[in-house]
Amino acid sequence: AKQQGGNSFRFYHSQFSQEVRQQFEMEKQLRQALSNEELRLQLQSQCLHSGKIISAEALIRWQHPEQGMISPAQFIPIAEQSDLIVAIDRWVLTQVCELLAELQQQRRRLTISVNISPRHFRKSDFEDWIDALVKETGIEHRSLVLEVTEGVLIDDVSNVVAKMDRLTNQGVQFAIDDFGTGYSSLAYLSRLPVHELKIDKSFIDAMFDPRVKNGVIQTIISVANHMNMRIVAEGVETQQQADFLYNADNAIIMQGYHYARPVDIATWRASIE
Ligand code: C2E
Ligand code: CA
Ligand code: CA
Ligand code: CA
Repeated sequence: AKQQGGNSFRFYHSQFSQEVRQQFEMEKQLRQALSNEELRLQLQSQCLHSGKIISAEALIRWQHPEQGMISPAQFIPIAEQSDLIVAIDRWVLTQVCELLAELQQQRRRLTISVNISPRHFRKSDFEDWIDALVKETGIEHRSLVLEVTEGVLIDDVSNVVAKMDRLTNQGVQFAIDDFGTGYSSLAYLSRLPVHELKIDKSFIDAMFDPRVKNGVIQTIISVANHMNMRIVAEGVETQQQADFLYNADNAIIMQGYHYARPVDIATWRASIE
């Protein structure tokens, strides 16, 4: 038995180091991807119940020369282990602000949301860098929405508020992403300058599941309304889900395959014409 234990340890150990090697290799390739222009931006429309498009979320993809399209769920966690994530987030922000500048010239008043990694948010030049980009591209601050998760926000509250205020005072908006999956008390939330709550897809998925307690979605909606925040529902895949949400709050914003999938920028622009 002892012998076997030893073998299984070695087996586990070699599996582990193989995984580390793979991650290391991916990080190296990802650094190159950034300079080789293998990263792609897609946009997923956000709509009213009627289907009217009012905004979009920017989602990154990696067009790997051999492996094809790689999902952010695979490479973002690796990028988040170093400042590579800061470079990636800033690449996305630059693309989005350039697109917003073009839309503004055509007098299209849509907002675009960008995902901000916790590590990036914590950078000391986070606010200044974004403010400079917005000014350089000449877009209206209010057309940019920054999505942060609850995890970002549980740091020292006065520091978090100061960082957010610096941008929100200019007009930039903040959304709390994946709301309901992390820790944040209502008292805490009420101190933050947040404009939007995004109900996590897991709650939308479970909406009609009889084993799941009712009322979570209604609770999130009433919290958001009390705090004067917009509400976006993630992962809306069916008409029934859309109707349920609309009946709970007719101003709720829908994001999901039932309305639109993430598409490349050219396709998205054609869809809003
Ligand atoms: P997220 O911010 O929660 O983004 C929503 C995810 O749900 C996206 O996955 C989107 O394609 C997917 N989705 C939207 N509607 C539906 C639906 O109706 N059904 C299903 N099954 N899925 C739906 P995606 O694009 O794979 O992104 C995964 C995660 O990667 C994102 O989750 C976000 O956390 C991260 N991510 C994506 N782009 C960026 C980025 O530019 N920067 C950073 N830091 N993170 C990003
Ligand atoms: Ca998001
Ligand atoms: Ca989300
Ligand atoms: Ca989510």
